[in-house]
Amino acid sequence: MCSIEYCHNSDCGHPFRIEVIGGNLPGMKSLESITCPYCRYTYWVRGRGIFRSFPLTAKQMIDHNRSQGMPLEKAS
Ligand SMILES: [Zn+2]
Repeated sequence: MCSIEYCHNSDCGHPFRIEVIGGNLPGMKSLESITCPYCRYTYWVRGRGIFRSFPLTAKQMIDHNRSQGMPLEKAS
């Protein structure tokens, strides 16, 4: 299972891909670390399984931006 996560470091904020390993185990959620593959910033989330992070490829980045609709102008 893959999803897109945004770095929690406000100086970075980079989107990257996370994959959850062993996420099907029953039981309590535990604190797991996610490390940004760009700036190595690590933060903790509650989840099941272990998170692995991967940088987006150029193509994934384009697809992701497209799926976000990337507004041309921001209403101010
Ligand atoms: Zn980062």
